[in-house]
Amino acid sequence: MSFSNLGLSDKVQAAVAATGYTNPTPIQEQAIPHVLARRDVLGIAQTGTGKTAAFVLPMLTILEKGRARARMPRTLILEPTRELAAQVKENFDKYGAGQKLNVALLIGGVSFGDQDSKLMRGVDVLIATPGRLLDHTERGGLLLTGVELLVIDEADRMLDMGFIPDIERICKLVPFTRQTLFFTATMPPEISRITEAFLHNPARIEVSKPATTAVTVTQSQVPAGREPHEKREILRRLLRDAKDLNNAIIFCNRKREVAVLHKSLQKHGFSVGALHGDMDQSARMAALDQFRKGELPLLVASDVAARGLDIPAVSHVFNFDVPHHPDDYVHRIGRTGRAGRTGTAISIVTPLDSKSMAAIEKLIGQQIPRAEGDYTVHSEASDEDAAPRRSRSREGSRDGARGGRKPRREREPRHGEREARQDREPRQEREPKPEREPRHGRNPAPQAAPSHVPSIGRAEPRRPQREVDHEPADHSHLPAFLLRPVRARA
Ligand code: AMP
Repeated sequence: MSFSNLGLSDKVQAAVAATGYTNPTPIQEQAIPHVLARRDVLGIAQTGTGKTAAFVLPMLTILEKGRARARMPRTLILEPTRELAAQVKENFDKYGAGQKLNVALLIGGVSFGDQDSKLMRGVDVLIATPGRLLDHTERGGLLLTGVELLVIDEADRMLDMGFIPDIERICKLVPFTRQTLFFTATMPPEISRITEAFLHNPARIEVSKPATTAVTVTQSQVPAGREPHEKREILRRLLRDAKDLNNAIIFCNRKREVAVLHKSLQKHGFSVGALHGDMDQSARMAALDQFRKGELPLLVASDVAARGLDIPAVSHVFNFDVPHHPDDYVHRIGRTGRAGRTGTAISIVTPLDSKSMAAIEKLIGQQIPRAEGDYTVHSEASDEDAAPRRSRSREGSRDGARGGRKPRREREPRHGEREARQDREPRQEREPKPEREPRHGRNPAPQAAPSHVPSIGRAEPRRPQREVDHEPADHSHLPAFLLRPVRARA
């Protein structure tokens, strides 16, 4: 099957050819003819399957005819996160370069005024996160009664983030007669209910089993105590020991943990970015961009921020925290081993994670073996990351655990103790707080970058650090590429 058999316009086919893609992926092959026939589509597909182009390409073909009117977008795409929304916009820019289409992004963290004036000029494609979209409709600056085609992407992620009531409201604001394209990686009961309520006789397309991990990914687990400083020590050793580590995403369950771990890794000399929902938009995009380009080989991320992002060829995924939902494990692991490449996924597992691990192993239908090597953090060694400043030998306190390398001088500062104490609260048993797009009026976007925004390529500002180690670490033991200097972004 080639792209020429799918019914796409000549312009769109030329744009696809220019990107170098020769054959449609299974979801594209199956979905595109239905979209062009103006049928509703229920696509059960994960990211990495080419599902974005499966709706962008036929939409571009459909949009060649007709014109947009002020404040009345012709098509609407809902995405759970700002990054995904921006990524879809990039797809329109790429494949729609030869068309004069107005594509607008309505996402949090960007000024209302700019978005409003774009809407005023008339929009062919509106790509939005649900909260910001509703803010605009409530202000009266946006009418959804002209929407001919609605895309709901990553619906199961919307569910996790608590967006389903917003989605239901939006579905009632668009005309009943619109065409709806609905994509989800999994089909929990709430999602089935929504599809029954809002899709009309959809073509159901399922491209891969939702709960499988690629056979090219080598998975393993490393046992750890429940203290975060112990887990951080293990992670550092895993990073240093990793074979063929080209780049890695390190997943945490909570936004706060992302910020703490990011700072800690920076302090220990790793070249690392961070991605979570509380960072301002420009910092998120900058970190992602640098990771994509290989300027930052490591990225600490939360599920919500990383979900569905198109980051090709990640060699390693680390679960600093075991996810509470087994589906999230599958999604995280899906960041590596893509397109037949090999990948490595290592989970740091505490005694509190045994239930979650059992659920994961059940879902993926396999046991996750223990990683080779001894990553036990001995009590003296664990002190290194948490102990208050006190009289102890600086040298040779812990290297037994690292196979007799030259002793290093990594010490945690006096604040480490506070950090350890805070993290001892039984938060691991709680569900992670879902990250939501800040809604206007409730949680306006911060004007200044918050303290957890990564200062990539810059020296850390001289200010007291509350949560993480602040002593300089000896970096001589790290592979050079993990330390390479990063260009500051304008
Ligand atoms: P997605 O599932 O939309 O996130 O796409 C995953 C990756 O596949 C992206 O990097 C796309 O650029 C790429 N891609 C999309 N369609 C094709 C295709 N027909 N052939 C090869 N790669 C593709």
